Order: sequence, then structure tokens, then C-alpha cells
Amino acid sequence: MAKIWDFASYNLLYLHSPPVGLEHLHCDMKRGFTKARKGEPEVAELLEKDNIYQRIGLLAQKGVWEFHHDCLMLSRRDAVKQVAEIIQLNQEVDLVQERVIKILDNYHNHPILWDKNIIQLSRGDEGFPEPILIHQGSYQFNLYAAIDCIFMEEDGSLNILDLKTGKTGFDKRQGYIYLLAASYLYPNQKAVASFYNLETCQWSEKITASPETLQCILIELSRVSQQHQKLLRLYRNNPADFKKIFPPNPGISCRYCAFNSICEFTVDEAIA
Ligand code: SF4
Repeated sequence: MAKIWDFASYNLLYLHSPPVGLEHLHCDMKRGFTKARKGEPEVAELLEKDNIYQRIGLLAQKGVWEFHHDCLMLSRRDAVKQVAEIIQLNQEVDLVQERVIKILDNYHNHPILWDKNIIQLSRGDEGFPEPILIHQGSYQFNLYAAIDCIFMEEDGSLNILDLKTGKTGFDKRQGYIYLLAASYLYPNQKAVASFYNLETCQWSEKITASPETLQCILIELSRVSQQHQKLLRLYRNNPADFKKIFPPNPGISCRYCAFNSICEFTVDEAIA
């Protein structure tokens, strides 16, 4: 059987259509750099530099995993120090160390999974999750849903938990994608999704989805996946048309954009 290259994920959906309220930060050209030009050395270098916030998320996830890997760890008074040593936090830049220590401290004080029946807890560095092959009419694509944690609620339903860091809000669409994945992975079990921010110690509400909602998200993912492949093909055949295929949206988003040093459309924040 031929390999399926078409794919969808929450990240791809986010890059195509921003969550409500963040439209002003959306720029298609950013997606062009990230997805179509990631193989170019100067783009690859910028992508590598931009991963500081991903690094914080990864180490936070590893830390939570370590707290639960050794069942006595959470009860140790020096648990934060121990976990920081295991994840080699001292090898990170200062900003990462500061934020992750605070996260570990928060988690040690509020170990939200302490009394939960954990079915699956990811360490965060396992690489790409196994894709789920989705058929939508005659179209097929791989769905990638990296699940941080699954635990069982008291009523027997599964809670697909996503651990967050940083200030970004919770996007319900991501919860729906987890529930769509769960409907394939655990077809006979009820499931809810939720988010927990390890820095602010905030839980989201529990997210549920009707079969109609799951169908809608599946159709949307299929549309985004097809659109993405179409634009990548267009760019491969016409690299000179980069700015037409991935139009820029200069403005306040340029300030936070990893590509502002190489983008000809970047604007100064004062002008934006
Ligand atoms: S610098 Fe501005 S216009 Fe250029 S890719 Fe980034 S956000 Fe878009």
C-alpha cells in the first residue's frame, strides 16, 4: 500500500486558522517558512532558535513524568531538586531553568495526578505519535495527536489531559481533536478532554463532543490537510511565488515572529 503523506494535527490547524481572538497574530507567510522552507539552512537555524518555549514545555512534561515514575518521589521533601537533576535542568539557558523550576515547584505543591488512575503518561520526548489513519469520503490522511496523559475518571470515562505552559489560552478545537483521536483509539469508551496549565495551576472545564461535533472537526482537519498539500505542491513548482502562495500579514505579529530577521515584509513594532 502506498505511503500516505497527507496529514493533519492540531499544530497544522493552528497554523492555518488561528483560535478566536488571535486572528491579528496570524500570518500565512510564517506557515510558509515553517512548513515549505524549513529545509533551507537559515530557516532551519531560526526554527531551532525559536524552540525555547517548546523546550520549557518538554522539560515540564518530563518533570511531571519523573514525579510519577518513582512512586516515592512526590513524597520527598527534596523532590524538586531531585527531578531537576534527573532532567539535567542545569544544562539549560537561564530563562528555561527559572521557568521550569517554578513549574516543578508548582507541581510538587499541587500534584494533580497524584490520586488519579493514570492509563498513559507521556515523557514528552517519545517523538511523533503513531498516526491514526482517517478516511473522509475518498480522501485519506494521517492524524497525529500527541497525548500527554490519559487518566480514568471515577465514572469510568477517560480524561485526555493536555499539560500546558505559558500564557496561551485553551483552544477547544484541540480538545475536540483529542476526542476524535480517542474515538479511534478507544472506540468503546466515553471520553472527555481537559487542559491544565502547569504555570498558572489552572484547569480548563471538561470538554465533551457529540458525534456531530467530531464529524465537523474531522471534515475541518481533512480540508486543512488537503489545502496544505495543495499549497506545498504549488510552492514546490513555483518557488518564486512564495509571497503569493503564503501571503504576509505584517503587523504586531512580526514582533514575535521567528522569521522577522529574514522576512522582507516585517514591520517595526512602532509603525505596526
Ligand atoms: S515577519 Fe511579519 S510578515 Fe514576515 S512572516 Fe513574520 S509575521 Fe509574517
